[in-house]
Amino acid sequence: MAKLSILEFPDPRLRTRARLVAPADFTPAFQQLLDDMFETMYEAPGIGLAATQVDCHLRFMVMDVSEEKNAPRVFINPEIIHSDGHQVYQEGCLSVPGIFADVTRANQITVRALDRQGKSFDLEADGLLAVCIQHEMDHLDGKVFVDYLSPLKREMVRKKLAKQRRESA
Ligand code: ZN
Repeated sequence: MAKLSILEFPDPRLRTRARLVAPADFTPAFQQLLDDMFETMYEAPGIGLAATQVDCHLRFMVMDVSEEKNAPRVFINPEIIHSDGHQVYQEGCLSVPGIFADVTRANQITVRALDRQGKSFDLEADGLLAVCIQHEMDHLDGKVFVDYLSPLKREMVRKKLAKQRRESA
């Protein structure tokens, strides 16, 4: 029973700004939560999951953008220290199921973060990995990708999700 439940748009808890992970947060329970988040993400299936989405309001996220699902990545207290260019990618989100929309983001980024042992690393990313990092970092600031859409389109998304939920209830 490791699977965590994922908050869905427009749940107001998705609007929470997460706080920095402190050295004291690196507990066995935290390591377990990381494992549970990976399990939840792979099972969904998804390529990234931010703590915000499982109602934990600390700045970290898990990710695996590989085809083989064998390249798990953890980013704790991530910050983008360099970004360049732009790209448009059709994004989806486990918190906005069944909805896909084009979002423009930086094409190349350098992210600085801590790994699950608390060790700092810098990673240069482009393409899908760069998209995913920026998407998950938005969650930590209480943002969801549909925020980039027009108000009209966002309202359509909200209605479509409400309808999906009614039909699956
Ligand atoms: Zn998302």
